[in-house]
Amino acid sequence: MSRIYFDNAATTPMDARVIDYLSGIMSELWGNPSSIYQEGRTARAAIEEARKTVANTLQASIGEVFFTSCGTESNNMALKCAVRDLGVSRIISSPIEHHAVLHTVQRLEKEKAVELFMLDTDEQGKTDLAQLEELLKDGDKKTLVSLMYANNEIGTMIDLDAIGELCETYGAYFHSDTVQTIGYYPIDVNQAKVHFITGSGHKFHGPKGVGFIYINNEAMLQPFIDGGAQERNMRGGTENLYGILAMAKALELAEAEREARRQKIDSVRHYFAEQLQSQFPEAKFHGTPFEGGHYKILSVSFPESAKSDLLLLSLDIAGISVSGGSACSSGADAGSHVIGSLFPDSLRKTIRFSFSHYNTNAEVDKVISTLKNILQ
Ligand code: PLP
Repeated sequence: MSRIYFDNAATTPMDARVIDYLSGIMSELWGNPSSIYQEGRTARAAIEEARKTVANTLQASIGEVFFTSCGTESNNMALKCAVRDLGVSRIISSPIEHHAVLHTVQRLEKEKAVELFMLDTDEQGKTDLAQLEELLKDGDKKTLVSLMYANNEIGTMIDLDAIGELCETYGAYFHSDTVQTIGYYPIDVNQAKVHFITGSGHKFHGPKGVGFIYINNEAMLQPFIDGGAQERNMRGGTENLYGILAMAKALELAEAEREARRQKIDSVRHYFAEQLQSQFPEAKFHGTPFEGGHYKILSVSFPESAKSDLLLLSLDIAGISVSGGSACSSGADAGSHVIGSLFPDSLRKTIRFSFSHYNTNAEVDKVISTLKNILQ
């Protein structure tokens, strides 16, 4: 029997049409985009088309989009270069950010490059906006606010527009890790008043190892990787041509099918939640799954027991892929800093189920019956 994949916040399978598109172009399109003869020019033109696709989905201008190797690199670039190039000496963030942000801001603090302030979060993972405003009002240091749009573990989302407004009012820069929302939620960088946002191809059925960063013209940075003049002098190194083209193709498909995919994912997730609630009355949902949380994520905790301790492993053996901790430690079941921060004393076992439009209610039935076999 084929496996069931309910870990789409960790990564997504490539769309077959993206694979077809890639196989169709690879033998013809192989020039170095920096070469000035025809092979190079064709490759360069293809990259610029891809940039246009990404820029259009964000309502950004082409000169504000740069390709990188992944979401982690993009987040590192935004945070470290803002400190280095824009005079940022205070960062306000939250303890439930992805490690790509959390470890970066902690390093900046350790190196004494910035003062770091972590906002309080409630049990649902919501950040305290009044506290943010107080801090922004108070400080005289150039400040960068870094808050993720949707949390990758529990799905809780921030009010991007409200935080953008606050940052604008008090003259702070605003970075948002949007890796989990690109291709799922529309974003208009002008309305959101963000200075930096980030994306990663493998979260929306594109390839791994490619991402992008949006940098607002008013907050332009210097290169994060020095070398050649690629990416308008912003990132040295021959471009990941195929990765970039495939990511743009995947994004184009995700945008065109966004509403249909959302409905499918949401209905499978609702069905799963209903089944869970009726079969496992002690199961609890984290975050705000049905009041504004990311529609692809359902984080569930089960009471502690010898059986629930082995839940991830037992599900894997039964052919079901889910994760316990964060996306990066998917499968390794290495506790989660997010759940640890929200519920420091809880011994309950958390499983994150995350869905794609390829999932079905029949898969849900199978997962529920397997959970019953394991837990009851
Ligand atoms: N930010 C968030 C919210 C994520 O979920 C992930 C992926 O797990 C990343 C950043 C890192 O992206 P990448 O795997 O492309 O480095």
